[in-house]
Amino acid sequence: MNLTPLRLLILGGTGDAAKLAGRLAAAPGVVAISSLAGRVAHPVLPDGDVRVGGFGGVDGLVAYLRAARIDGVIDVTHPFAAQISRNAALACEHLRLPLLAVLRPCWSRVGGDRWHDADDVKSAAALAPRFGGRIFVTVGRQALAPFAAYGAPWYLIRAIDLPNAPLPARHELLLERGPFDLDAELALMRSRAVDVVVSKNSGGPATYAKIAAARALGIPVVMVKRPPRPLVPTVETIAAAASWVDELRGGTRTSRARAGSHP
Ligand code: NAP
Repeated sequence: MNLTPLRLLILGGTGDAAKLAGRLAAAPGVVAISSLAGRVAHPVLPDGDVRVGGFGGVDGLVAYLRAARIDGVIDVTHPFAAQISRNAALACEHLRLPLLAVLRPCWSRVGGDRWHDADDVKSAAALAPRFGGRIFVTVGRQALAPFAAYGAPWYLIRAIDLPNAPLPARHELLLERGPFDLDAELALMRSRAVDVVVSKNSGGPATYAKIAAARALGIPVVMVKRPPRPLVPTVETIAAAASWVDELRGGTRTSRARAGSHP
């Protein structure tokens, strides 16, 4: 029996990616390496091996996958991290490596929600001032630049790390990392007399409380739609990704044994 471990690259930067890394760190016959972009100053490091920083586009990713003898890639990046997902699809196609995306479902409107869809953050920045002059912006520090173009409103900006883009003239900055709970979000929105929330449709429970709080307070939400992603096999849960790894491990073992070799 071939006992060479299956070597997997987890493209991470999300809580789900860290959960998957934790699960695979305990799985026999698997070596999972988590990759972080390096955007956050003090990231929560996943279990197992971790590498940090961009690969250098598709060519750099191809070179990394070869050098690290990766057998398969699991893309558990944020739903708005479209570039790395495209790069992963192209690199894996080039090397004929198995690729799985883990994509949590979008949030959907429920009764009482007052959502206004925006195609991207720039459109959201233009739309939000129509609903009032006190705007709660929760789109991540890398996406704040479009809001600086609007001088009249006051912005409550929440991000994990200090943004480096120019910020709107009138703002308060909160540096906080989720998860956030409903009572805290209600208190925050009430205390700042927020008129409208701007959010990406990230999905998942960790940052949903602001959406529930907006609904409870009758506040509109400008919801940024997800960008298009490459068409690759996709699951919604970590459990489904772990099953895919089990199947891959079985299949890779069999094909390596058949070929009579291993890397
Ligand atoms: P992006 O626009 O898709 O990626 C831009 C570049 O960053 C990529 O081309 C790649 O550089 C590098 N990169 C991104 N994710 C990487 C990873 N996991 N490992 C190594 N390099 C990576 O992504 P982004 O929106 O900047 O997001 C960066 C990271 O933050 C992602 O890991 C994502 O999961 C996380 N995140 C993003 C958001 C969001 O709203 N976008 C929210 C929460 C967390 P090279 O071309 O040099 O390889």
